[in-house]
Amino acid sequence: MSYNDFEVTFWGVRGSSPTFEPDMREFGGNTSCVQIQIGNRLLIFDAGTGIQTLGRNLINRKKHIDGDIFITHTHWDHIQGLPFFRPFFQKKNTFKIYGQRKSNLSFSSVIKDIMKYPYSPIRWDDMEANLNFKEIDSEDIIDIGDGITTKSIKTDHPDECLAYRIDYKDKSCCYLTDLEHNKEIDEELKGFVKGTDILIYDSNFTDDEYYGTFDKPSKKGWGHSTWQKGVRLAKEASVGKLVLFHHKLERTDDELLTIETKAKRNFKKTIMAREGMKIHI
Ligand SMILES: [Zn+2]
Ligand SMILES: [Zn+2]
Repeated sequence: MSYNDFEVTFWGVRGSSPTFEPDMREFGGNTSCVQIQIGNRLLIFDAGTGIQTLGRNLINRKKHIDGDIFITHTHWDHIQGLPFFRPFFQKKNTFKIYGQRKSNLSFSSVIKDIMKYPYSPIRWDDMEANLNFKEIDSEDIIDIGDGITTKSIKTDHPDECLAYRIDYKDKSCCYLTDLEHNKEIDEELKGFVKGTDILIYDSNFTDDEYYGTFDKPSKKGWGHSTWQKGVRLAKEASVGKLVLFHHKLERTDDELLTIETKAKRNFKKTIMAREGMKIHI
């Protein structure tokens, strides 16, 4: 099968924890979830609370749903929507869930245990959809059919995290969330994102927050990057569009708008991720 459309939708763009303050509604407070739709192939990246809204949207389609879900890592803000993803409760649906094992814990046990007694009234096995786990690791290239491939690379983040690149024909998108840059330019990361149409980048901090100022301690070692590093990487790797993502929990709409303006001045093709935003390639 051959498709021409490649559409990226942002369902959750906030980092750390969901937040619904009145001054944060323009950009949104749901945690990480990005949908990539290539023809009728549904790919989902992370399952923060944003996946709940995606679930309601998919249920409205009324057809059976087949999808591939890629988890970057299992910190709460990337998995906490899974027990509330309504398509998991319908027998007719099938999903493959990809992610990394954590030392001696299999990927499936890490996910299933979030619904264990006494943390959840529903157990994983209560979900009726056909759910299959696939363990992946850094540098795996997966052919998911219809000419779509995903590649993964390990990022510098506490407890480890994977970043993904999705390629289809001459179109591509890179999803790099929860990573700490350890050099000005990481050549491996630059090669990974080279020439991509869309680079979704962890911009949790500003450079001032990351390096610290006279009255504020540095955030080095917290596992996140800055919008300035995103701009630098996007320019060096000749990406088509930079999407600033994983907004800091306390960041208001006004602050995000200010950062977006500054970032655009440095790299015109930058946009701040907003909940509900769609990008077509
Ligand atoms: Zn996160
Ligand atoms: Zn994390």
